[in-house]
Amino acid sequence: MKFSIRYKFMVGLIIIFCIGFNVISFFMNKIIVDNSKRIISKEFATNKKDLDLYLRQFMMMNNIKNNEKDFEEHINEISEALSLKLDDRVTFYKNNGQLLLDTAYADGDVLTFYTVDKNIIDNKEDLKAAFTGKSAFSIINYENNYIVAFAFPINMDGKNLCIIRYSKDYSYLFQLNRNLLGITKKMILIIFMLTCIFTILLSTKITIPIVKLSKITKEISKGNFNLDVNINSSDEIGELGENFNLMKEKIKEQIEIINKDRDNLKIIESHRKTFFDNVTHEMKTPLTIISGYAQMILDDGYEDKKILNKGATKIKIESNRMHKMVLDLLTMSKLESYVEINRKEKIDMEEVVNAICEDMMIKANKYNIKIKKCIGKEIFIYGNKEEIRRMIINIMDNSIKYGNIMSTINIGLYSEENFCFLTVEDEGKGIPEGKMHKIYEPFYRVDKRGEREKGSNGLGLTIVKSIIENHEGKIKIESREGIGTKVYISIPLV
Ligand code: ADP
Repeated sequence: MKFSIRYKFMVGLIIIFCIGFNVISFFMNKIIVDNSKRIISKEFATNKKDLDLYLRQFMMMNNIKNNEKDFEEHINEISEALSLKLDDRVTFYKNNGQLLLDTAYADGDVLTFYTVDKNIIDNKEDLKAAFTGKSAFSIINYENNYIVAFAFPINMDGKNLCIIRYSKDYSYLFQLNRNLLGITKKMILIIFMLTCIFTILLSTKITIPIVKLSKITKEISKGNFNLDVNINSSDEIGELGENFNLMKEKIKEQIEIINKDRDNLKIIESHRKTFFDNVTHEMKTPLTIISGYAQMILDDGYEDKKILNKGATKIKIESNRMHKMVLDLLTMSKLESYVEINRKEKIDMEEVVNAICEDMMIKANKYNIKIKKCIGKEIFIYGNKEEIRRMIINIMDNSIKYGNIMSTINIGLYSEENFCFLTVEDEGKGIPEGKMHKIYEPFYRVDKRGEREKGSNGLGLTIVKSIIENHEGKIKIESREGIGTKVYISIPLV
């Protein structure tokens, strides 16, 4: 079974209160009774001294001798005097226990005049003690009245003349003490009520935020992070709420990062799979061709010079193609592992671009393509020279490959706002607009059938983009189908 904090608080408080209240009441009662007895005892001692002195004087003045017989003979005058002095009823007993005189003309029972209820017994314990020579009193309680009976032997010069007993109503004293006890109990009750109210309020203040937190943690466990804990309190509980919200936001952020990473991983994984599928596919084609022609030569190619020639040429072209692909794949792998880029140096772009143009001229001449240069001076970048060369060759190679026969390729090199700009513009078949977004994907070729030569494998622009990004640069390609393509490259200057 589940018990709320408030319930536990209340049960605990009630148990503590019940035990505490009874213990306090018991001890208060005891203290009050003891105090009352002490007050009565003090008063008794004083009264006894007074009476002794008074009696002694009275006996001297009235020539009453100090013996039992003479005392008993004058008992009427003595009793009258003492009754007047005490302003109350007095009872005298002989030493043998016999009632000598009761100024009230009664039988010596102190209750006779206080109550008609004979069920209450005056057990005369004080009197019994007085007969043994002690001064004593006993408290008789009935219906909230407290009568105290005092008894002591009258002793003159070592002789016990008689026992005297008188009573006094001490109800006022006990009433006073009872009132004090009543007030104390009321105060305890009020304090308890206040404690209860305070506990209820405090436990509500504590439990409401806890309940809120518990509800929200349940929601969070279901994946709902959009709820906030609102605790308007400037104490530790308010701080707990604020910290909880912070923690929730942090968890939300972390989960978002994890989700993003997971999605990215999935994308990377799928890219990797496509990549390897493509690699195997691209390898399969030349290998099939190579294997086919090799078989042809083995079958009857030795005799037929034409077949032997054709087969050997095809095997050469396809093995060259595979060789280029393997080299490109190696380049890509190196670029991904950032091995080459670490070998950086200051590169004179004018020198690099001029040298490449010269090298590419041979290939361009094959198709009657002119290379027109507009190359600026003193343009330096910081990077890996071999990578930069490979990147420019790939772009210019594309322009030759996809450029029209007898067309012109314009090469531009200039610097602007801390950047080195390289532009390669050709007149050729261009790239259809709908396919532009795919040209950087590995193995993507716009039109495989329309290739002028067997040198392409769709890895060129992937490598170009990777190199430019490793040099904190950017690439932009503008192309119009049937008109031509212009490639813009920007790399930060040294
Ligand atoms: P490839 O080895 O096939 O040239 P690239 O990655 O260099 O691979 O280029 C991807 C595709 O983009 C090419 O197959 C081609 O269709 C297109 N392309 C690239 N450059 C040009 C260009 N200058 N003119 C026309 N098409 C181009």
